[in-house]
This record gives sequence, structure tokens and C-alpha cells, in this order.
Amino acid sequence: MPDPSEYAELAASLERIRSRITEAASTSRRDANAVTLVAVSKTHPAAAVQAALAAGQKVFGENRVQEAECKFTGLRDTNPGLRLHLIGPLQTNKVRDAVRLFDAIHSVDRPKLAAALADEMRRQDKRPACFVEVNIGHEPQKSGIAPHDLDAFLVSCKEQYGLPVSGLMCVPPAQAGAAPYFRQLADLARRCRVSCLSMGMSGDFEAAIQAGATHVRVGSSIFGSREILA
Ligand SMILES: *Cc1c(COP(=O)(O)O)cnc(C)c1O
Repeated sequence: MPDPSEYAELAASLERIRSRITEAASTSRRDANAVTLVAVSKTHPAAAVQAALAAGQKVFGENRVQEAECKFTGLRDTNPGLRLHLIGPLQTNKVRDAVRLFDAIHSVDRPKLAAALADEMRRQDKRPACFVEVNIGHEPQKSGIAPHDLDAFLVSCKEQYGLPVSGLMCVPPAQAGAAPYFRQLADLARRCRVSCLSMGMSGDFEAAIQAGATHVRVGSSIFGSREILA
């Protein structure tokens, strides 16, 4: 078990984030239960995850397959309610492990990956929920489908590959205010008839909830800052 004093702060941070989520939902007349808090534990040790579990957190996000595997394999056995989401880029050579490990994949961003995921889901008879990542700020250095390619990509995900696409995900440009990008992603989701929206991080999850986020990915405000850039 983690040292209780070391992680007492973590339970308090988690509680603060939960009440900010409730507040943001109520301001925009939304049900707070319609917002899933994905606690992003990347770079933090299993003991930190354990402390969050002890404080009632069930859903975790990791951005690397290998790291998630090391950290969560044991925790899964002792915490049957634990849910793990992949929020970072996925290489096709890691698809097998990703399908086995994760309950949701937020980074479906290209046809080759969609095809590989569909094959692997059939093979394992396991269907993690998929989010299509959209490059909402048209940033060349970022992954994600360009907004004008989204319709065609979603059609092929569903009809050609039979992927269980439940929503869209984005990471807006760092410099600008995120709210307009969140609204754009919500508009795209409405138009494409997908119901889930993975958007909002420590600095902007309230704006994301106001724009309709169903999944907010919060890391540093719960677990503290990351020493390694991730
Ligand atoms: C790291 C990360 C987060 C969490 O970011 P914080 O600012 O620490 O809350 C959310 N989404 C993605 C895709 C990330 O890589």
C-alpha cells in the first residue's frame, strides 16, 4: 500500500477536481454523471494509481502501451472495476497489446490503424470503445484526422472496418483559448452523430464540459507535475 501521508494530498486533489466537474456541469445545466473523469497517470508510479483507487477513482488514462502494461497488469487483478484508456498515439505494431490492455482508445487517427484495430478486435473478440482523434487546430506537428477528412474516415471506420466508434477526441492548440476548439469538436460530433467527446485537460476541462465533453483527461491537477516530459 502507498504511504498514506505521501498520497493524502492526492485524495484531496481528486476531490477538488470532482467538485469542479460537478460545478462546471451544473453551470451548463448538464448532468455531472455524464462526464467521466479519466485520471491521467502517465509517468506516475503504480503507488499513485493505488492511492487514487483508494480514493474511489476507477478510470485511468495512459499515453504509452508499454508503461501501462507494466503499471496496470497487477492492479487490474485486484481491482475488477478499474478501466484503462489509451490517450496517446498508437503504432500499429502495438495494436495487439493495446486491444488486450485497454477499455478505450482515444487516438484512432488514420486508416491503417483503424484497419489494424478492427482485425485485432476480431482476433481477440474484444471491442474497446474507439475515439477518433481530430486535429482540430490544423497543426502540422499534431496527430489527428483533419476536420475536412472526418466524415469519410468515420464512414470507413464504421462501414468498412466495423470499428466501435463512440466519439471524437482532440487536443487543441496550446497557445490559444481552447473553448472555440471544443465547440468545433462538439459541432463535428453532432453532425457526424457520435455521442462521446474526449476533450479537456487540467488547464481547460471546465470549458470542455461547458462545450459538451463526456470524457475529461486530467493528469497534473490530480497526480502533480510530471518530471519527465510525456
Ligand atoms: C498528458 C495528457 C493529458 C493530461 O494533461 P494534464 O495537463 O496533465 O491534465 C490529457 N490528454 C492527453 C492526450 C495527454 O497526453
